[in-house]
Amino acid sequence: MSCCELCANPHPNEIWRGGGFYVIDASSESFPAYLRVVSERHVADMSDLTEDERRVLWALLMCLERAMKETLRADKLNWAQFGNMVPHLHWHLTARWRDDAYYPDSPWGSPKRAVPADVTAERLARKERLVAVLPALLDAALKQA
Ligand SMILES: [Zn+2]
Repeated sequence: MSCCELCANPHPNEIWRGGGFYVIDASSESFPAYLRVVSERHVADMSDLTEDERRVLWALLMCLERAMKETLRADKLNWAQFGNMVPHLHWHLTARWRDDAYYPDSPWGSPKRAVPADVTAERLARKERLVAVLPALLDAALKQA
Protein backbone atom coordinates (compact mmCIF):
# COMPACT_ATOMS: atom_id res chain seq x y z
CA MET A 1 0.00 0.00 0.00
CA SER A 2 1.82 3.05 -1.25
CA CYS A 3 -0.38 5.44 0.75
CA CYS A 4 0.73 3.99 4.09
CA GLU A 5 3.60 5.85 5.75
CA LEU A 6 4.69 2.72 7.64
CA CYS A 7 4.89 0.67 4.42
CA ALA A 8 6.83 3.39 2.61
CA ASN A 9 10.60 3.93 2.73
CA PRO A 10 12.56 2.84 5.81
CA HIS A 11 12.13 5.21 8.74
CA PRO A 12 15.20 7.41 9.35
CA ASN A 13 15.19 6.48 13.04
CA GLU A 14 14.89 2.72 12.57
CA ILE A 15 17.10 1.00 15.13
CA TRP A 16 16.43 -2.69 14.48
CA ARG A 17 14.58 -5.03 12.15
CA GLY A 18 13.86 -8.75 12.40
CA GLY A 19 11.21 -11.45 12.71
CA GLY A 20 8.68 -9.47 10.69
CA PHE A 21 8.92 -6.28 12.79
CA TYR A 22 11.03 -3.16 13.08
CA VAL A 23 11.72 -0.74 15.92
CA ILE A 24 11.77 3.04 15.57
CA ASP A 25 13.19 5.61 17.97
CA ALA A 26 10.40 8.20 18.18
CA SER A 27 11.86 10.06 21.16
CA SER A 28 11.51 13.81 21.55
CA GLU A 29 12.14 16.49 24.17
CA SER A 30 8.67 15.80 25.62
CA PHE A 31 9.17 12.02 25.57
CA PRO A 32 12.90 11.34 25.74
CA ALA A 33 12.48 7.56 25.56
CA TYR A 34 9.71 6.63 23.14
CA LEU A 35 9.98 3.59 20.86
CA ARG A 36 7.59 2.11 18.32
CA VAL A 37 7.43 -1.55 17.27
CA VAL A 38 5.96 -1.84 13.77
CA SER A 39 4.78 -4.89 11.82
CA GLU A 40 6.48 -5.27 8.44
CA ARG A 41 3.16 -6.49 7.07
CA HIS A 42 0.35 -4.04 6.45
CA VAL A 43 -2.19 -5.40 8.93
CA ALA A 44 -4.42 -3.40 11.23
CA ASP A 45 -5.01 -5.49 14.32
CA MET A 46 -3.37 -8.08 16.55
CA SER A 47 -5.81 -10.72 15.30
CA ASP A 48 -4.47 -10.17 11.76
CA LEU A 49 -1.06 -11.52 12.81
CA THR A 50 -0.19 -15.19 12.62
CA GLU A 51 0.42 -17.13 15.85
CA ASP A 52 4.15 -17.02 15.14
CA GLU A 53 4.09 -13.27 14.56
CA ARG A 54 2.20 -12.69 17.82
CA ARG A 55 4.75 -14.81 19.72
CA VAL A 56 7.64 -12.84 18.21
CA LEU A 57 5.94 -9.50 18.87
CA TRP A 58 5.33 -10.39 22.51
CA ALA A 59 8.98 -11.39 22.94
CA LEU A 60 10.13 -8.10 21.38
CA LEU A 61 7.78 -5.98 23.50
CA MET A 62 8.85 -7.73 26.71
CA CYS A 63 12.51 -7.36 25.77
CA LEU A 64 12.01 -3.64 25.16
CA GLU A 65 10.08 -3.08 28.38
CA ARG A 66 12.73 -4.81 30.47
CA ALA A 67 15.59 -2.99 28.75
CA MET A 68 13.85 0.38 29.04
CA LYS A 69 13.09 -0.11 32.74
CA GLU A 70 16.65 -1.16 33.54
CA THR A 71 18.45 1.44 31.47
CA LEU A 72 16.23 4.47 31.86
CA ARG A 73 15.22 4.19 35.52
CA ALA A 74 11.74 5.28 34.50
CA ASP A 75 8.85 5.21 36.96
CA LYS A 76 6.51 3.48 34.49
CA LEU A 77 6.38 2.08 30.98
CA ASN A 78 3.30 2.93 28.89
CA TRP A 79 2.19 0.61 26.09
CA ALA A 80 -0.36 1.77 23.53
CA GLN A 81 -1.72 0.50 20.24
CA PHE A 82 -4.36 2.42 18.31
CA GLY A 83 -3.93 2.44 14.55
CA ASN A 84 -6.75 4.95 14.09
CA MET A 85 -4.63 7.47 12.19
CA VAL A 86 -2.36 4.89 10.51
CA PRO A 87 -4.15 1.51 10.28
CA HIS A 88 -0.88 -0.45 10.19
CA LEU A 89 -0.14 -2.40 13.37
CA HIS A 90 2.36 -0.62 15.61
CA TRP A 91 2.90 -0.42 19.36
CA HIS A 92 4.04 2.67 21.23
CA LEU A 93 6.35 2.11 24.21
CA THR A 94 6.93 5.25 26.23
CA ALA A 95 9.04 5.61 29.36
CA ARG A 96 7.32 7.78 31.94
CA TRP A 97 8.57 9.68 34.96
CA ARG A 98 6.35 11.13 37.70
CA ASP A 99 7.78 14.55 36.90
CA ASP A 100 7.48 14.32 33.10
CA ALA A 101 5.46 16.99 31.31
CA TYR A 102 2.30 14.90 30.92
CA TYR A 103 2.33 12.55 33.93
CA PRO A 104 -0.05 10.99 34.95
CA ASP A 105 -1.94 11.61 31.70
CA SER A 106 -1.19 9.58 28.59
CA PRO A 107 1.42 10.92 26.16
CA TRP A 108 -1.55 12.19 24.13
CA GLY A 109 -2.90 14.22 27.05
CA SER A 110 -2.24 17.80 28.03
CA PRO A 111 1.11 18.99 29.36
CA LYS A 112 0.99 19.78 33.07
CA ARG A 113 4.47 21.10 33.81
CA ALA A 114 7.79 22.05 32.30
CA VAL A 115 10.72 19.66 32.72
CA PRO A 116 14.13 21.22 33.43
CA ALA A 117 16.42 21.02 30.39
CA ASP A 118 19.15 19.18 32.33
CA VAL A 119 16.67 16.46 33.35
CA THR A 120 15.54 16.01 29.74
CA ALA A 121 19.16 15.95 28.52
CA GLU A 122 20.07 13.26 31.07
CA ARG A 123 17.09 11.11 30.02
CA LEU A 124 17.93 11.53 26.34
CA ALA A 125 21.51 10.45 27.10
CA ARG A 126 20.28 7.32 28.89
CA LYS A 127 18.02 6.60 25.90
CA GLU A 128 21.03 6.85 23.57
CA ARG A 129 22.85 4.25 25.72
CA LEU A 130 19.75 2.06 25.50
CA VAL A 131 19.55 2.39 21.70
CA ALA A 132 23.20 1.32 21.47
CA VAL A 133 22.52 -2.02 23.19
CA LEU A 134 19.04 -2.73 21.84
CA PRO A 135 20.01 -4.50 18.59
CA ALA A 136 21.89 -7.23 20.47
CA LEU A 137 19.10 -7.59 23.04
CA LEU A 138 16.42 -7.81 20.34
CA ASP A 139 18.48 -10.34 18.36
CA ALA A 140 18.65 -12.51 21.48
CA ALA A 141 14.91 -12.10 22.17
CA LEU A 142 14.10 -13.07 18.58
CA LYS A 143 16.23 -16.23 18.83
CA GLN A 144 14.35 -17.30 21.97
CA ALA A 145 10.86 -16.47 20.61
ZN1 LIG B 1 1.20 -0.10 5.92
